[in-house]
Amino acid sequence: MVEHQLQGIGMTSEKTRQRLVQRLRAKGIGDERVLEAIAGTPRHLFVGEALASRAYEDSALPIGRGQTISQPYVVALMTQAILGARPLGKVLEIGTGSGYQAAILARVADRVFTTERIGELLRSARQRFHSLGLHNIYTRHCDGLGGWPTQAPFDAIVVTAGGVVPESLLDQLAEDGVLIAPEQNNGVQRLVRTTRTRTGFDRADLGAVIFVPLLEGVE
Ligand code: SAH
Repeated sequence: MVEHQLQGIGMTSEKTRQRLVQRLRAKGIGDERVLEAIAGTPRHLFVGEALASRAYEDSALPIGRGQTISQPYVVALMTQAILGARPLGKVLEIGTGSGYQAAILARVADRVFTTERIGELLRSARQRFHSLGLHNIYTRHCDGLGGWPTQAPFDAIVVTAGGVVPESLLDQLAEDGVLIAPEQNNGVQRLVRTTRTRTGFDRADLGAVIFVPLLEGVE
C-alpha cells in the first residue's frame, strides 16, 4: 500500500499514533521520552504492506522468516526500563528484526549498535533507518550473543529474543549499566532487568513476556 492510500484511511495520521500513545499510557508507560519516541516513529513502515493497517494496534506482528516485530507495549516497557539508570551514550541491541525497537532507542540514546543473525531482515531494517534519516544506528550481521566487543562498554543492552543470556554479554555492560532480556526457564519467559553495580549484578523481574527464541549462528 502506498503512503497516500494509508494517509487516506488515516493510518499514518498523528491521531492514529496518539491513540497508541494513550493506550500505552493507560497500561502504565509514564516516561514522556518513551511516549514521544513512539509518537514520532512510523511503525507502519516497519511491517509489510499487507499489515500496515494494523501497525498501530498494540500487538506483535509477523515480519517474515518466522520472526515478529515486538508489541509496542513491550518495546515501550523495555525502553523505559533502561532509561533513568544513567545517560544513554551507547546502547547495544541483540535482534534487529524489523528495526523498530532500534528506531525507538535511537531517539533516546546517542548511538545504537544493533545485531541481527538473519541477513535478509537486517537488509530491510538498514533501508528503513536510511530512509528515516536515523544515522545514529550501526548494524552488524552476526550472532549477537557475542555482543559487540570493540564498542563495549555499553550503557544499556537490550535483548529482543528469548533465551539464556551469556555472561560474556553482561561483561560488556558499563558500571551502572542495565541489560534487559526475556530470560527463558523451563519454557517460561520472564523479562529481567540486570544492573551492573560496583560489586556485582542486581536483578529485577518485570513480568511474563513472549518473544521468538534466541538462536545461534547466522543465516
Ligand atoms: N527488535 C525487533 C524484534 C525482532 S524479533 C523489532 O523491533 O522488530 C527478534 C529478532 O532476534 C529476530 O529477528 C531474530 O532473527 C533475532 N535473533 C535471534 N537470535 C539472535 C542472535 N543470537 N543474534 C542476533 N539476532 C538474533
